[in-house]
Amino acid sequence: MAPRVIPVDPFDLVIFGGTGDLARRKILPGLYRRFQAGQMTDAGRIIGAARADLTEESFRAFVREAVEEFTPAARRDEASLAEFLKHIRYVAIDAKGEGGWPQLKALMRADVVRAFYFSVAPALFGDLAERLHAHAIADAQSRIVVEKPFGRDLETARALNAVLAQHFDEHQIYRIDHYLGKETVQNLMAVRFANILFEPLWKAEYIDHVQITVAETVDVSGRGAYYDKSGAMRDMVQNHLMQLLCLIAMEPPYHFDPDAVRDEKLKVIRALDPVAPEDIVRGQYRANGKAGDSYADHAENPESRTESYIALKAHISNWRWKGTPFYLRTGKKLRARSSEIAITFKEPPHSIFDDERGWRENVLVIRLQPNEGMNLMVMIKEPGPGGMRLMQVPLDMSFAETVGADLDDVPDAYERLIMDVIRGNQTLFMRGDEVEAAWAWADPIIQGWETRGDRPQLYDAGSSGPEDALMLMHRDGRRWRDIRE
Ligand code: NAD
Repeated sequence: MAPRVIPVDPFDLVIFGGTGDLARRKILPGLYRRFQAGQMTDAGRIIGAARADLTEESFRAFVREAVEEFTPAARRDEASLAEFLKHIRYVAIDAKGEGGWPQLKALMRADVVRAFYFSVAPALFGDLAERLHAHAIADAQSRIVVEKPFGRDLETARALNAVLAQHFDEHQIYRIDHYLGKETVQNLMAVRFANILFEPLWKAEYIDHVQITVAETVDVSGRGAYYDKSGAMRDMVQNHLMQLLCLIAMEPPYHFDPDAVRDEKLKVIRALDPVAPEDIVRGQYRANGKAGDSYADHAENPESRTESYIALKAHISNWRWKGTPFYLRTGKKLRARSSEIAITFKEPPHSIFDDERGWRENVLVIRLQPNEGMNLMVMIKEPGPGGMRLMQVPLDMSFAETVGADLDDVPDAYERLIMDVIRGNQTLFMRGDEVEAAWAWADPIIQGWETRGDRPQLYDAGSSGPEDALMLMHRDGRRWRDIRE
């Protein structure tokens, strides 16, 4: 079954930072794929805008290289790539100067969707917003896309929101969290809200706990200086893990509509309790033979106290979730690259079977990477003539067979989100108040360890994380799921 493609309206998409790393790895190859799929039509146009003094031809060569490097050979073809490149323009522009703006204005077409992707450092957001208006390039229908990091605390996030609000209404601002663009993350909402089966059980009465894991194998080399000012809490928990937590915990919105969904997510964030210091474990990887160098080597600061790993236990104080802990963990240089959400249901209240082997809980596992998909672990009778022995098996809910060989045609997160911008659908983007509420929860946690001068616990590169993180679950009589691909 081929995914249905509905072409988007004609658009001019300006990518500020069009020569940058993000544009090269994600945005440009993603747009090519949507063009190839027929979703971006011949009436779509992409205008690279960056400081480099490039000709249009040399920018097209850059786009070609980006597509060739970051699209598997089997998924691209020369004819569509050559056609795609015809839709590419370039303007050399300085966000802080006046050069290039009249040229950009002259390029923009009337009566098409105008979108501006701010793929530059957040310090330039204000300059771009201001000049887009000063040169009458953006209007009340234009959209802007902004990338993470959206602030480094509540104060800076508020300041960024205020800068953007001077020139754009909230309905024009698309704050990207690419986790929300993942197929299974949206499937989570479909499973919850399009079936009667799960929702009645979706509460503290029946759910023992929730684990959210985002494990990476990469280190911070290459971005050590940036990362050292951030750390896992700011870089991953406040945004990505928080968004996942919201989608699991939110009440059913009255409609699948941007503000209805975001209102419900906001209520979850506001219901989060402060996290006690004993419910947080911070880690930093250390050298481990061939498995890799230490964090401090990459951060260039041997005394760095920044965490490359964090595990914490969160509680949501509302009727639905009182008593069900949410365990969150994320880290770099771990043993495998694996992101998943696991919802562990409680055991049946009484067992009628004598067979006491194995786990009895149902677990709904939502895998985000690799191999996006869902599994529901259920107990069945062990096949065979023996007695009534039980075993746990996964019920595959990823419907891989239905989607079949065309699974490759499912857009990745960036592709989907950029098309949503053109369609004017903000459901999968963070609203300003959500981002601020998430910082309001994260700030005291970060301030706590900064004030105390806590040092992260060291863990071996290539391991599952610090020992104390195991204890965080053990002392509650629970255990983390294995980190494996
Ligand atoms: P980069 O340093 O590779 O590229 C920066 C781009 O901005 C270049 O095209 C450069 O020409 C342009 N630029 C810099 N100063 C400018 C100015 N004064 N006027 C006009 N253009 C200017 O950065 P990147 O890695 O592509 O990241 C861009 C944004 O996306 C950042 O906010 C970053 O935090 C965010 N982000 C990046 C990634 C990633 O994987 N690279 C992931 C998530 C978020």
